[in-house]
Amino acid sequence: MNYANIKYYDIANGPGVRVSLYVSGCRNHCKNCFNPETWDFAYGQPFTPEVEEKIFKGLELSYIKGFSLLGGDPFEPENQLALVGFMEALKKRFPDKSVWAWTGYDFEADLLTGKKGDPEITMRLLKCIDVLVDGRFVESLKNPDLLFRGSSNQRIILVRQSLARDELVQMVAETDRLFVRRFTPHDAAGLYEILGDEQTMQYVEPAFGREKTDKFLSENCVGKANVFAVELKDCEKLIGYILLKPTGEREYEAGWIFHKDYRGMGYAYEAVNAVFDHAFAEMGAFKFTAGIDERNAPSLTLARGIGMKFIRTEKQGEKTQLIYEKTKGNK
Ligand code: SF4
Repeated sequence: MNYANIKYYDIANGPGVRVSLYVSGCRNHCKNCFNPETWDFAYGQPFTPEVEEKIFKGLELSYIKGFSLLGGDPFEPENQLALVGFMEALKKRFPDKSVWAWTGYDFEADLLTGKKGDPEITMRLLKCIDVLVDGRFVESLKNPDLLFRGSSNQRIILVRQSLARDELVQMVAETDRLFVRRFTPHDAAGLYEILGDEQTMQYVEPAFGREKTDKFLSENCVGKANVFAVELKDCEKLIGYILLKPTGEREYEAGWIFHKDYRGMGYAYEAVNAVFDHAFAEMGAFKFTAGIDERNAPSLTLARGIGMKFIRTEKQGEKTQLIYEKTKGNK
């Protein structure tokens, strides 16, 4: 295999500063591809053990958050064969660095079916990847506001979770300790741990029963682009729910519920900030408001911590809500 480029301090392809490898060879030939020179499998330099070692050295730096694998297309059969041993060694040597990869092929239709090369090799390579951006670049769906992808048909997939659940788990954002992702039907038990807990729900509404949680998940969470699940990266535990409810043009009412056992550790701060960044960039959001019960100290602290400004008080029956606001300008 040849490679087209290596960047040792890349800030454009995945979160944080990363080492990125651009392999040569791609048969997708997407119209207006930004790297057409890499379609040629003979382009660039040979990918030798010395080059592999240089990449490992680059990854040893503590501020390097992870490794990104781009192209060309790493999932062309001959590239999979050349990469799989290197990727397994990389994952073993740097278990705490996240691995992102980009492919023009479709995760379910092309990769999980084993249509691209040896199915066993494809699966071994997939197991080395934390986050996969899949799908061809489609010029008519091009959107420069999208994070880490060129056109809106491309998806950001949490590979390990998707393989374990046997269903597609799409990611929205990655922070140091968390994945913010879409809900799936498999979240019923995890969501019930949150919504069914009286103390967690103290200032929101009465705790949900299991049946109500299941209904809420299927009707209000799964498949919704404005509802976000928050899970711990290291153990994939669901710890929070975030909602952005549209209230006007480019305006959303934000709400969040984090399990009581995971409060006071900065998780909600990390996750809500990431969701706001996503909404500013990809949902066209300009303003968020949040109505918070005056007794809900953790949520009030969070609102102030993420830069929301107090604007007024509202009475709702017996309750007093403090209304906070954040606009794109005071980000
Ligand atoms: S898959 Fe990527 S490298 Fe290949 S043609 Fe499409 S945009 Fe270009």
